[in-house]
Amino acid sequence: MKTVNSPTDYLSNDINVSVTDIAGGISYDRSTDEKYMKKALQQAKKAAKIGEVPIGCVIVYEDKIIGRGYNRRKKDKNTLSHAELIAIRKASRVMGDWRLEGCTMYVTLEPCQMCAGAIVQARMDRVVIAAMSPKSGCAGSILNLLQMDEFNHRVEITTGVLEKECSSFLSNFFVDLRKRLKAENVTGETGMVLENEAE
Ligand SMILES: [Zn+2]
Repeated sequence: MKTVNSPTDYLSNDINVSVTDIAGGISYDRSTDEKYMKKALQQAKKAAKIGEVPIGCVIVYEDKIIGRGYNRRKKDKNTLSHAELIAIRKASRVMGDWRLEGCTMYVTLEPCQMCAGAIVQARMDRVVIAAMSPKSGCAGSILNLLQMDEFNHRVEITTGVLEKECSSFLSNFFVDLRKRLKAENVTGETGMVLENEAE
């Protein structure tokens, strides 16, 4: 049986090498979490390079990355092309199973409802999040789909890992994009779309 833990916010703790989750008694190494979040951020940078909202994700099993993904929604013209779903597809291929038990997902932005649903469906053990998304996140912001008592699986959540780095990368992306569009004199509807996507 899986232990359900409440989110551990690194920002509210002193900077220590490891964080012990009181509810589960499980300790996670902060430097390991940061190491893999950096890999997720590298994925987000790939998305930025092709003009996509920069969100990146890696999935780790037994200290090995088995799936990577970055947002490619515009490029693929497909709403299913979120970083998390791409990484889940790849990890499932490596595991040879739809179940991703024993796996941890590292993602630069709190998952949306679609991805949070897929994470529960995949029976992922744990999700580590850099920045929260107050207007779209479903790992505690709007809803916490990852830890609903009513579902048959609950996911451990750790938040705030490399939060500053990941959220400033995301907001800088939008600042640059706005500047570029302004320079190109693009206004009106496109501007509105950007506002919505930033949320
Ligand atoms: Zn998503």
